[in-house]
Amino acid sequence: MSTTERPRILIVGGGYVGLYAARRILKKMRYAEATVTVVDPRSYMTYQPFLPEAAAGSISPRHVVVPLRRVVRGAEVLTGRVTTIDQDRKVATIAPLVGEAYELPFDYLVISMGAVSRTFPIPGLAEQGIGMKGIEEAIGLRNHVLEQLDKADSTTDEEVRRKALTFVFVGGGFAGAETIGEVEDMARDAAKYYTNVSREDMRFVLVDAADKILPEVGPKLGQYGKEHLESRGIEIYLETSMDSCVDGHVVLKNGLEVDSNTIVWTAGVKPNPALARFGLPLGPRGHVDCNEKLQVNGMDYVWAAGDNAQVPDLAAMKAGVPAERAWCPPNAQHALRQAKILGDNVVSGMRGFPQKEYSHANKGAVAGLGLHKGVAMIVMGKFKIKLKGRLAWYMHRGYHGMAMPTFNRKIRVFADWTLGMFLKREVVSLGAMETPREEFYEAAKPAPAPAAAKAPEKAKAS
Ligand SMILES: Cc1cc2nc3c(=O)[nH]c(=O)nc-3n(C[C@H](O)[C@H](O)[C@H](O)COP(=O)(O)OP(=O)(O)OC[C@H]3O[C@@H](n4cnc5c(N)ncnc54)[C@H](O)[C@@H]3O)c2cc1C
Repeated sequence: MSTTERPRILIVGGGYVGLYAARRILKKMRYAEATVTVVDPRSYMTYQPFLPEAAAGSISPRHVVVPLRRVVRGAEVLTGRVTTIDQDRKVATIAPLVGEAYELPFDYLVISMGAVSRTFPIPGLAEQGIGMKGIEEAIGLRNHVLEQLDKADSTTDEEVRRKALTFVFVGGGFAGAETIGEVEDMARDAAKYYTNVSREDMRFVLVDAADKILPEVGPKLGQYGKEHLESRGIEIYLETSMDSCVDGHVVLKNGLEVDSNTIVWTAGVKPNPALARFGLPLGPRGHVDCNEKLQVNGMDYVWAAGDNAQVPDLAAMKAGVPAERAWCPPNAQHALRQAKILGDNVVSGMRGFPQKEYSHANKGAVAGLGLHKGVAMIVMGKFKIKLKGRLAWYMHRGYHGMAMPTFNRKIRVFADWTLGMFLKREVVSLGAMETPREEFYEAAKPAPAPAAAKAPEKAKAS
């Protein structure tokens, strides 16, 4: 890292908020006014709303991520994890990818570490579950699902086949409903290439503790989304939870028991637990406590936004929601807009200028449920336009295609979609990608010593 005399703006996390805030600060800052440092354990930002489509193979996984070093030119990008922060000394401790942890001093701090999967101590979950927060998980899920079809095709053992062809998803919000919609579509489509696996052999189960799915699009469209998924043969169990899944034996609260090799956990998120070591005021659910200017309460040199921050929702308050319940929900719509205001406020803060308030009224939500299927709710002033089916799916693609950061990535995503209109889906499982050295290792390892030759029997004395 550079050691300059300039003040350092340290951005912890290079996701949605980190990337957009860094770009905004670099744009608004005078030449050499400060050193902008972005720290993230990954060298790329992930556009999470596209993870379900990456899992289904509609978008190449590489096009869903944005390389930080390329898009925040002028900033210092450090690949590592911020583990603790000493607010008295204004020093962060960074654990790099390799080597010893080191300390990094800063003058201004941006906290944008997002959220992690919210889990519960359910027996078997840690060993069997897979989340849907990162591109690695989306690639892993796709390979795993296709591998289950290969497995089922290769055996006549009914029990093994049934377990391989049963897919359980826990959590029916954006992430869960979109992922099951996309993966089911992909898997049933892939079945046509198998001799011993048919579409009907597969079983998809969606479980949610709430009484509805897709709360983001409102009750009517959520109900439509549920009926639509059910019409495709997906079993949906609401107001129920998973009690255990030891060795893939899933037991639900409602008494249902199924065996499955695939348990996808998308039951919500919680703020990054590392925040507890940063010496910051936290809200009741672990978010960094911010004011409406995105400044951390009581700390005029620290800002936070996105999934790890509790930010008062001024627009909701204006619409009559009581202040104690009016917090910005954790979604990309807020993260993106907050990042821009946050960037402006950091530059103003550095110059001693006043801070801007953040206020954004919900513009609606779009969700894709597989190829040509979706739901959308667009808010226009007092009116809510509700769309479903193919039109909603186009809205979903149009909105997210345009929201994807950088022109380069937009072009790549639209190119993937265009190719997908003319070419058939890719249905190859590259499960071996996870252990790429295995075959070479087998070839290169020293050959076992030949079995000792049998000593010739002594000629019997005649
Ligand atoms: C599958 C899925 C689908 C979604 N679909 C939608 C949708 O359709 N519409 C919508 O509005 N929202 C959607 N969301 C939510 C949206 O993606 C998030 O709200 C948004 O990404 C939040 O941005 P963020 O910057 O707060 O966090 P993130 O984008 O998650 O970024 C956090 C960053 O912090 C880094 N980090 C973590 N720990 C450390 C550490 N110790 N030190 C340094 N860096 C660290 C992480 O590596 C990551 O890069 C979806 C989310 C998921 C998972």
